[in-house]
Amino acid sequence: MAGPRSLRDLPSVDRLVADERLADVPHELAVEAARVVLDRARAEIRSGGEPGELLEAVLEEVERTRRPSLRRVLNATGVLVHTNLGRAPLSRAALARVAEVGAGYSNLEYDLERGERGSRQDHLTNALRRLTGAEAALVVNNNAAAVLLALAAIAEGREVIVSRGELIEIGDGFRIPDVLARSGARLVEVGTTNRTRASDYEAAIGPETALLLRVHQSNFRVVGFTERPALAELAQVARAADIPLVDDLGSGALVPVGEEPTPAESLRAGAELVCFSGDKLLGGPQAGVIAGRAELVEKLRRHPLQRALRADKLTLAALEGTLALALDPETRGEIPILRMLEEPLEAVRARARRLAHAVGGEVEDTVARAGGGALPLAELPSAACAVEEKLAEPLRLGDPPVIGIVRDGRLLLDCRTLTDAEADEVARAVTAARAWS
Ligand SMILES: *Cc1c(COP(=O)(O)O)cnc(C)c1O
Repeated sequence: MAGPRSLRDLPSVDRLVADERLADVPHELAVEAARVVLDRARAEIRSGGEPGELLEAVLEEVERTRRPSLRRVLNATGVLVHTNLGRAPLSRAALARVAEVGAGYSNLEYDLERGERGSRQDHLTNALRRLTGAEAALVVNNNAAAVLLALAAIAEGREVIVSRGELIEIGDGFRIPDVLARSGARLVEVGTTNRTRASDYEAAIGPETALLLRVHQSNFRVVGFTERPALAELAQVARAADIPLVDDLGSGALVPVGEEPTPAESLRAGAELVCFSGDKLLGGPQAGVIAGRAELVEKLRRHPLQRALRADKLTLAALEGTLALALDPETRGEIPILRMLEEPLEAVRARARRLAHAVGGEVEDTVARAGGGALPLAELPSAACAVEEKLAEPLRLGDPPVIGIVRDGRLLLDCRTLTDAEADEVARAVTAARAWS
């Protein structure tokens, strides 16, 4: 049906929303959508264009308004912990815990045995102790908060010694020197960008020193003429001066993943506190875990910032569900991030072949990445289905959106970050995108 050609042909808002196809739409929403569509139609006519069928446009506008902004997407980038795509997908077990705890009341801060007030921080202590060997643990909103809380509680108004090679920016403006400043601690830099020795820390320790901070270099590597003391060596320096060594591990793989240091190793080497993320290689919800010596953890728990930074019940439920899977070697593979990391190349390639067969694409060998600042140099052999580059936009705008990688004039749909069922959805999305473009 042709649309109106002149401003005089445009219907009124009232007439437009009176159409029976809008009968089920709340009146205010229909009116708002009709206004948007009529405004657009006026602009279109003034610039000599043709606004098209108005009622269709109103229905589409209503649909667009109703659609949630935060949506599920299919990650065909091959980056496992993709910071822009929500990092770690949750396991079924973790989601079941969220549904169970979130749907009703819970013993979040209630001690069932004693019938009195309890602490939300107690629920995960056992699992974290078993996984890391720490005496005590605390969960906050994310790892940035964990580092901030540790520095504020132990070093406020005093000095923190950090190697110049570890004064990093993680991304989105999270810079270690800035976090340090916000915690109220003073930064003392030692060593150089490429070389720092244990003796550099030793020489910088004075009466004002509150702690030594070690930071995982996360998303970059300095190669060539480099030196960095082993953690155990640094722990010795700290112990001799009777100050704690705090290790910001970043990713915090609880089970060994490539060269990533585990919290257990770090604590065994002599770190008194470790901080790590819940949603990087651990494969759980966004959270920050602080684990280590009981007395220090207690100090953090009592700090006023703890109240502002603590994790909510849904996070704790998802993290508890994830840790339960991690504790049993039989169920670890149910954590999506670990499954994707460990899936044999042949299985990924078979998925890419099926996708290519379904959409008439080509299988191509690719390199997937852990992402999230973990294992920056690690290359995970992977396979993608290559299709026309021009599908990138319609796929991104489709439902569900599909995000791939454009390279050398083609769109690569990496199959390491897709499940079999998701690959089927991608196949349908490619078909729809071709019809659309
Ligand atoms: C990622 C990272 C952080 C920040 O963790 P979030 O969970 O994103 O807040 C801090 N330190 C290091 C070394 C990291 O890799």
